[in-house]
Amino acid sequence: MGLMPIERQTLSRTVAGQLIGLIVNGTLKPGQKVPSERELSEQLGVSRTTVREALETLTALNLVETQAARGTFVKEIGVNAVGYDSRLRDLLEKEGFDMPQVRLVDPHPPAGAPPEVTTDRPIRLPNLKKDRLGTFEFISWWERETVQKARVMIIGAGALGNEVLKNLSLMGVGHLFVVDFDQIEAANLSRSVLFREEDNGLPKSEVAARRIKELNPDIKIQYFQGDVTTEIGLGVFRRMDGIVGCLDNREARLAVNRYAYWLGKPWVDGAIQELLGLVRVFKPNHGACYECTLTEQARREMALRYSCPLLARHNILLGKIPTTPTISSIIGAMQSQEVLKLLHDMPIEYGSVTHFNGLTNEMHTTAYVEREDCQSHWVYSDIVELEDCTANETTLAELMAIVRRDLGDDAVLELDQEIVMGLECPNCNTHTEVFRPLSRVTFDEGLCPACGELRHVLMTHMITGEEPFLDRSLRNIGVPPLHIVRARNATQYRFYELTGDAAETLHFAHFTQDTAVSAGAPITIRPTRARVRLGDPVAVPPAPQRKQVRLRD
Ligand SMILES: [Zn+2]
Ligand SMILES: [Zn+2]
Repeated sequence: MGLMPIERQTLSRTVAGQLIGLIVNGTLKPGQKVPSERELSEQLGVSRTTVREALETLTALNLVETQAARGTFVKEIGVNAVGYDSRLRDLLEKEGFDMPQVRLVDPHPPAGAPPEVTTDRPIRLPNLKKDRLGTFEFISWWERETVQKARVMIIGAGALGNEVLKNLSLMGVGHLFVVDFDQIEAANLSRSVLFREEDNGLPKSEVAARRIKELNPDIKIQYFQGDVTTEIGLGVFRRMDGIVGCLDNREARLAVNRYAYWLGKPWVDGAIQELLGLVRVFKPNHGACYECTLTEQARREMALRYSCPLLARHNILLGKIPTTPTISSIIGAMQSQEVLKLLHDMPIEYGSVTHFNGLTNEMHTTAYVEREDCQSHWVYSDIVELEDCTANETTLAELMAIVRRDLGDDAVLELDQEIVMGLECPNCNTHTEVFRPLSRVTFDEGLCPACGELRHVLMTHMITGEEPFLDRSLRNIGVPPLHIVRARNATQYRFYELTGDAAETLHFAHFTQDTAVSAGAPITIRPTRARVRLGDPVAVPPAPQRKQVRLRD
């Protein structure tokens, strides 16, 4: 009777289907022991051979594993297994299990405990022919809506930035803001997947943005060619969910770190050199920040550079670090993954560094020590949105009037960028008025036209309301659009956003055919998770940076 083997096979498949059903609906949880062969055979009324065959099927499908002398245990359900494996699908269908009821494993199980099955999200069966992000639906932690809503700023579009942009756009991160001040040169072509021969001389930010829009036309993108340390308003940082630093110098990292901290935003730093690289994620009030990690030596070096401000900027712009496409792929990929973890609120070791050594292929993570006296640790609270104010149109006098109404006549503005008031030549004893932001005064301008000596730079970052240039616009003294200006009196700080700039400054509408750049509705603020507040309203927090104006040596 040739029917016998087929019948037994069918029976074991039925048993397998029932067991899979129990795993899928969460009755048998990951890590849990499956009842013994004897127990199952008794409960189901089938032979132990049938049970054994059923368990073999489950093992082959990677749903259970047998541990010697301990028994059989349920493994974590890979949703991809359910979605992809036609054998599994058949078994489930046969047992009448409804596919959409398949549930996912919680991406953040408490440490030590076995992962729980959640009822959060039913599995979606995507159309892989039409849906470019379809396969990500099978990834247990990936959430389409979360990534599509996300706004991420990528600072630096060099070797690392190219990799991060490529990865984030492929993963469907919906809104990308690309910043770089530089232009493409031939040497970049050896390590930048987004650049082509014909791009030589074009802005890195623009070309990178255009290419990732090609890579994934569904994402919204904006680029900015300029200096992140002075030209991006803090309101832009405020509207981001995450910030990625693909930078090659300490000054820019320090600036990004402070801005991110002040606005309560997490940021992912990456650094590469030859075969070595590192990745670290900083989040306000979650351990050390970038500035905490600076050694005394680094602080001294920076102070030295700041003592001659024009030279400092000049040197930063010259700095170049040798990199290769291989190490930038590795570190850029790790950074991108940290961003995705951030967006999904997955566990991250903030304030730690992961070093990758490509020579030995070793990777290790160490925690930084948080510094009590760190100058970056300050969070802007209670930001006043000035809907009618813009950097281009609002004058210093107009902003001072608003600030004085709120904070009284002794209120002052603290600018984030120094204004060069004048240049003085110690040799010729001459004084030249300037009134321009430090970033718009070149090193060559600092040289005395008469004797060639580097002149003293007279600067201020404090506006008291007595200045002779109060009729100038905020933009004119170096305040970028959508900036958040800091004001204080003797007892408290207040923060004023130039919200009138919002629609034009942050639109994510580059390379879209239908809309003019400024036509987009203003990007609204989503409340950040766990808004951090620092500073007692009647206590003045430590001034976050910089010394008073230095008049000569
Ligand atoms: Zn710090
Ligand atoms: Zn001179």
